[in-house]
Amino acid sequence: MEAIRDAIEWVAGEIGGFSATLLPYLLLGLAGLYLLWLVIGYLRVSQVGIEAEAAAQPILQLPRAPDGAVEAPRGVPYCPVDGLQYPPEARFCTRCESDLLLSCANCGATIRSADESCYRCGTRATTAAPADLSSSA
Ligand SMILES: [Zn+2]
Ligand SMILES: [Zn+2]
Repeated sequence: MEAIRDAIEWVAGEIGGFSATLLPYLLLGLAGLYLLWLVIGYLRVSQVGIEAEAAAQPILQLPRAPDGAVEAPRGVPYCPVDGLQYPPEARFCTRCESDLLLSCANCGATIRSADESCYRCGTRATTAAPADLSSSA
């Protein structure tokens, strides 16, 4: 038992001296980690800022076919007059105040964005959730 205690004390002393020499380096390493954490935090915040900026302007100009028809993706409300694309909860065009149209996300029938369900397939999920759009793309 004495030998074991001696060994433990010897190891503890060795570690103590070891950590005393390493302490400045440890502090430097911790400071480096802290700086890294700050940089990562800053990058994340700046990316969130960019996303929030993009979400603040959800009304997009849609491309038009040669015959003047508006080509909107399924499940996205759009104004057929102005060719503007609106977020899923939009009901009326902010420019001309007309009802927004919508291609049913399920069957593609053209319905009004304000309609609760699709007249053709009966689904109530007429707008495509943003998550669905990203997963299908
Ligand atoms: Zn409009
Ligand atoms: Zn439908």
